[in-house]
Amino acid sequence: MADQKRDYYEVLGVSKTASDDELKKSYRKLAKQYHPDVNPGNAEAEAKFKEINEAYEVLSDKDKRAKYDQFGHAGVDPNFGAGGFGGGFDMGDIDLGDIFGSFFGGGGFGGFGGQRRADPNAPSRGSSLRASITITFQEAMTGCEKELSLSRTETCDSCGGTGCAPGTTAEVCSDCRGTGQVRIQRGGGGFAFTSTAPCPKCRGTGKLIHQPCTDCRGAGQVRRQRKIKVRVPAGIDHGQTISMRGQGNGGANGGPAGDLLVVVAVTPDPRFERDGSDLYSQRQVSFTQAALGAELQIETIDGKVKYNLPAGTQPGFTFRLRGKGAPSVNGRGRGDQYVTVQVQVPTNLTNQQKNALLAYAETMGEGSPAPATPVKDFFKKKKK
Ligand SMILES: [Zn+2]
Ligand SMILES: [Zn+2]
Repeated sequence: MADQKRDYYEVLGVSKTASDDELKKSYRKLAKQYHPDVNPGNAEAEAKFKEINEAYEVLSDKDKRAKYDQFGHAGVDPNFGAGGFGGGFDMGDIDLGDIFGSFFGGGGFGGFGGQRRADPNAPSRGSSLRASITITFQEAMTGCEKELSLSRTETCDSCGGTGCAPGTTAEVCSDCRGTGQVRIQRGGGGFAFTSTAPCPKCRGTGKLIHQPCTDCRGAGQVRRQRKIKVRVPAGIDHGQTISMRGQGNGGANGGPAGDLLVVVAVTPDPRFERDGSDLYSQRQVSFTQAALGAELQIETIDGKVKYNLPAGTQPGFTFRLRGKGAPSVNGRGRGDQYVTVQVQVPTNLTNQQKNALLAYAETMGEGSPAPATPVKDFFKKKKK
């Protein structure tokens, strides 16, 4: 896991200023070239394919690309903390199922050009699971821990995944010699050809279990209902995915478990709008406060903070509260909060207040304006 990661732009063979179109083109070309179906059993191609997907996954997302440009791999590191924080697995045209299927032997490598199937008893990684949680805006800002319930397959404890009763072992299937595949002659006349099919004797497993483990009935795996604690990092945004390594379905034949991908939904807070790590809010002030200045208490995600509104503040004026924005999921600093001032024009004035305003208007050289003429009368007068 401590491999030195290559630069994502370099991986895709594009410049740092590449357009979305250029990225997509290059990605498609490389994905085709290194797709596991085209390179069965080629671990290097598989690693390359994974790398390409990871790079594209980040660079094709505007937010993630910006983070990557700013912080490098740390900005989008899928190994955040114990669990791991990563982006979604939205890979454009390539279906998630396809990718895991081809990576981890779910679909096998046998479908392409009559290639030999991989050893059915080789360790293979378990499939990934997807789940989702919903948290409040405040929880997204401070980070939180959530518990989710899921059903997954796990390696059977009693037999360690072998499927055999304690003290017994499986017999290698003699029909397929452990490969799980048999050759079948098809066709006739001049068109006989051979193809492979799962061995009927061992049902493609390559082994015969004479005394199955009673807990898993020979499957080597059991389905379990689990409660999983998800640590949500402060600063997570709506739609982002936390990937928890090894919390997915158990692997076969001693292979590692798949990952659990938890998509996080954040319920909006009417007080704040979020854009990246910056927050935006509105603050209403009275006409007098705008004119004379005032000490305001501004709502932030940390609670209220003091702000001295300068005298003569105009409507639409925006001030910044430095460091009061959303935290970065990498734990590096925080954004800012921008507060836009809305000046309220007084309504339903009492006579005393009206007189005070008239007196004010007079001092401003606006004369003593007559009370507004009702529109109805105005038209009557015009007609005459
Ligand atoms: Zn067999
Ligand atoms: Zn068992």
